[in-house]
Amino acid sequence: MKSTTKIEDPILQTVKKGLPLSDELVVDSHMHLGLYNQYYVPFSEHVDAVHQLIRHMDRLGIDKGCIWSMGGQTADVVPLNDLIIDAVEKYPDRFIGYTFVNLNYPEVMVDELERCFDLGLRGIKLIPAYHAYPADGENLHIAYEFANQHSLPMHIHNLPESEALDKLAEKYDKAVFQIGHYNRSYNEVMKQRQNVCGILTEQPHPGFIERLVEDDVIDKALIGSDCVYFDAAFGIGPIAYARISYEDKRKLLGLNAKRILERCGLWR
Ligand SMILES: [Zn+2]
Repeated sequence: MKSTTKIEDPILQTVKKGLPLSDELVVDSHMHLGLYNQYYVPFSEHVDAVHQLIRHMDRLGIDKGCIWSMGGQTADVVPLNDLIIDAVEKYPDRFIGYTFVNLNYPEVMVDELERCFDLGLRGIKLIPAYHAYPADGENLHIAYEFANQHSLPMHIHNLPESEALDKLAEKYDKAVFQIGHYNRSYNEVMKQRQNVCGILTEQPHPGFIERLVEDDVIDKALIGSDCVYFDAAFGIGPIAYARISYEDKRKLLGLNAKRILERCGLWR
């Protein structure tokens, strides 16, 4: 009689035991730090919020996080970027800090991008929808240009449609376009352009992860928990339990992100 016992891979075994994924590379490509008055933000109640976040990452086995401020979508980005500069100074091996810019103020965008770059931030966060700014607006090109010049990743909350993104990725080929909330309409451009990838944020629907394999975009998707909006375990859980191979889980958890960061010269 055939055995029906399925051997679980080391990732699921570790997660089920409630242990950190210490034997795997885990990179969370969507993290925040700071206060936001519309949400409960646990770590910001502590004086040393950065240290609390690091402890949380250690608890889960997250090696590195791409991080930007909480609240940059509604508040003055400058003091919020300072918070990220401080986090990167304290934990340079754990965080890749992104500069938040407000697309409605092109006259100060370059100054802020340069200031933060000089102080150690190595990515750009763009969120046109929350800034009530068109996803194909002119001011976005200020950020695209800067990212291209310095080979930076950009985490973009909402993007123009696939064909337009394809043209942008071709024009700004040294920058990396991270689709902040991946959806399947971008599959073709993700497959075709090395500098386009999708972040798996807030999509824990049954079958969703398995579909990345079917759609052949498993090499171009990265986990992003949206911590501290959500617990960082929110990024890992759906991958651990997905019905995909151990190797594919390793890609989503960290290997794909490593390749992207290496492309930008940001892996250390
Ligand atoms: Zn977020």
